Amino acid sequence: MQSEWTSASRVSSNAWTRLQLAATPGSQLWRLASENCPSGWSSSRSLVPSPWIALAARADLILVRDRIAEAARYYHHDRAVVVRTGLDLDEERWHLWHELVHADDGDEAGHTDIRRERWVDREAARRAMPITTLIWAFGLAENWHTAAALLKLPEARVRWYVGSALEPDARDLVRRASARAS
Ligand SMILES: [Zn+2]
Repeated sequence: MQSEWTSASRVSSNAWTRLQLAATPGSQLWRLASENCPSGWSSSRSLVPSPWIALAARADLILVRDRIAEAARYYHHDRAVVVRTGLDLDEERWHLWHELVHADDGDEAGHTDIRRERWVDREAARRAMPITTLIWAFGLAENWHTAAALLKLPEARVRWYVGSALEPDARDLVRRASARAS
């Protein structure tokens, strides 16, 4: 486990060096990588959006970690996102994005409506993996595993979103970025 994390952070660090070399000052990628997001979901130092920053931007919402059966849940009455204690960080990142969508929508029903859940997952993925971020990650990664490490998300979620849930035009952009890298 330790070596996996060490190697993931080395990949990230190399990726940053390559991104800095590749992104010409003044280009769109450079601008997107440099600007602060006014809604607080990103930072000037990373192309990977942070749900914890998004959470901090929502002053009335709290995060609680507890020993619950499901991975995470949103309680509208308490304006609380509860995440299961001990989740891997990439899992927590994903589930936090999912619960933030519920919270922003004021959902009271929990995860009961399958069609609704599909929409929430798609919206969570859109926030977790903006197209610029995908192009960056797939331009650097040699496989799904490394792309997921760069995106800091579970590989299965990345495969699902890029493989079957992303808009065809956007998928094409990612595929082309990926082809350039190989
Ligand atoms: Zn849900």
